[in-house]
Amino acid sequence: MLKGKTALVTGSTSGIGLATARALAADGANIMLNGFGDKAEIEKLRAGLEKEFGIKAKYSPADMSKPGEIADMVAATEKEFGSLDVLVNNAGIQFVANIEDFPVDKWDAIIAINLSSSFHSIRAAIPGMKKRKWGRIINIASAHGLVASAQKVAYVAAKHGIVGLTKVVAVEAANDGVTCNAICPGWVLTPLVQKQIDARAQASGQSPREAEIALLSEKQPMHQFTKPENIGALAVFLSSDAAASITGSAYSIDGGWVAQ
Ligand code: NAD
Repeated sequence: MLKGKTALVTGSTSGIGLATARALAADGANIMLNGFGDKAEIEKLRAGLEKEFGIKAKYSPADMSKPGEIADMVAATEKEFGSLDVLVNNAGIQFVANIEDFPVDKWDAIIAINLSSSFHSIRAAIPGMKKRKWGRIINIASAHGLVASAQKVAYVAAKHGIVGLTKVVAVEAANDGVTCNAICPGWVLTPLVQKQIDARAQASGQSPREAEIALLSEKQPMHQFTKPENIGALAVFLSSDAAASITGSAYSIDGGWVAQ
């Protein structure tokens, strides 16, 4: 379906981003990978995508907290592949503390990486999409784009911002063949969440499994994690022709988290 198209997935060296890059590659898209990690491991991922799915894959080390590097990455994607057709804004970080104890540098980093990076990438990518009259922009928000949790002031503010940004871009590009949607996952078991489980287990003396169940049941009626592959499958659907009129939406995939 996406054969001949190119997808850029930010933060795709791990977790949801990697699963989404794999799902888009399986559907035929060429892939620009991005994110931090061990050089050799990333090269293994890149070469593995090419081999497994018969597509072309490149890697950009752009730091999503740096506007200039984001613009360069978008330009490099268009130059390498001829177009950027599917943009998945996924890179994200987390930090938890009450607002009065929240370090200012953590606030700045989370707003830069989890929110402003999407402004910069969309700003750079959308002119080409509009010109070609086809584009899919998918912003990985969160249940925290729709509701709050204590101790996550920067994350919740950034994710609510992403949902707003999604709507504006959708409205602006509505008649240019470009859609823009947000995906709002609940708990997905990735390294980002594993760190939170480990911290809980350490603080409470629970076993990792007990901490896992406690974490899930606090928020989700469904006591199981969403798989990163499920987010990838939703991104593929939103990139399909069947989803051509879905725009400006915030898709929950959260085990019932925000239904309560
Ligand atoms: P992860 O930690 O497994 O992956 C994060 C990715 O972002 C990595 O590839 C990392 O290298 C990259 N990254 C971090 N900072 C970067 C920077 N400055 N520049 C470039 N890349 C950077 O996390 P994940 O759980 O897969 O999360 C991915 C996205 O999904 C995030 O936006 C997160 O907020 C969102 N999300 C996750 C969950 C969950 O339960 N895991 C739930 C809802 C939303």
